[in-house]
Amino acid sequence: MSSIEREIHRIRLQRVNAWLIRSGGRWLLVDTGKPRSAGKLLAGIRSAGCNPEEIALVVLSHAHYDHVGCARKIKEIANAPIAIHNLEAEILRSGGFVISDGLNTFGRFKAFMGRHVVPRLFFAFAPVEPDIIIDGDVRLDSSGFSAAIIHTPGHSDGSISVLFDDGSVFTGDLAITQPLSGIWRHMPMYGSSIDAIKKTWRLILDLGAKHVYPSHGADFPAHELAEWV
Ligand SMILES: [Zn+2]
Ligand SMILES: [Zn+2]
Repeated sequence: MSSIEREIHRIRLQRVNAWLIRSGGRWLLVDTGKPRSAGKLLAGIRSAGCNPEEIALVVLSHAHYDHVGCARKIKEIANAPIAIHNLEAEILRSGGFVISDGLNTFGRFKAFMGRHVVPRLFFAFAPVEPDIIIDGDVRLDSSGFSAAIIHTPGHSDGSISVLFDDGSVFTGDLAITQPLSGIWRHMPMYGSSIDAIKKTWRLILDLGAKHVYPSHGADFPAHELAEWV
C-alpha cells in the first residue's frame, strides 16, 4: 500500500523484544526491555544500522518492568521523546511496581510469586518522566510515521499498540507468542480478563491489523487471533 521504505528489527533481550522500525528515514523504538538490558539494547540498535541519537520516538506499550527497564537510559542517550498512556505514566515516573492479575493457573502462580515472594528489587527500574502522554488514539504523521498509537487495554488498563497503515501492529503484551497451544499461544498469562483482551484483539483486527509484532516471542499473522474473537 505504502511505497515508503521500511525496515523492522527485532531486538531480542532477556525473554522480551524491543522493536526498532525504520520508516521514511526515521526510527521508532517500541519498548526497552528489562532494567539490566541496556548494553544489549544499545548493541541491537546499533547493529540494525541506527545511531541511538537518531531515534525519533520511543513508545512504551505499558509500564511493566520488562518493557520500561531501559527507558531512562535510552532517553539519556537518544534524547528521544518517550510516549506512554496516561494510565501508566505515574508508574513510569515513580519506578513503581505493578503486576497484572494472572489469567490462568501458571499466571496466577507467577503473579502471586511476583507480589509476595520475589524481592522487590528484582522489578526495580530507573524512573523517567514521559514526554508524551497518550489519552485516546494519536496519529504519528507529525513524527514522520504513517501509523497511529491506539489504546489497546486488556493486559493492562493503559496498554497501547502502534498500528502502521499497512497493518503491521506492535502490540506489547496484548498479544504475545509463547510455546503453548490453543488460545494460550497468543493470550498473555496476565491481564484484567480474557474477555477484555479478546475484545481488543477484535478491535485491532477491525482497525486493519495484518501482522502482529509482540513484545514476547515471534511475530505472526494477525488472522491467528481471529478464530478466538
Ligand atoms: Zn506486561
Ligand atoms: Zn511483558
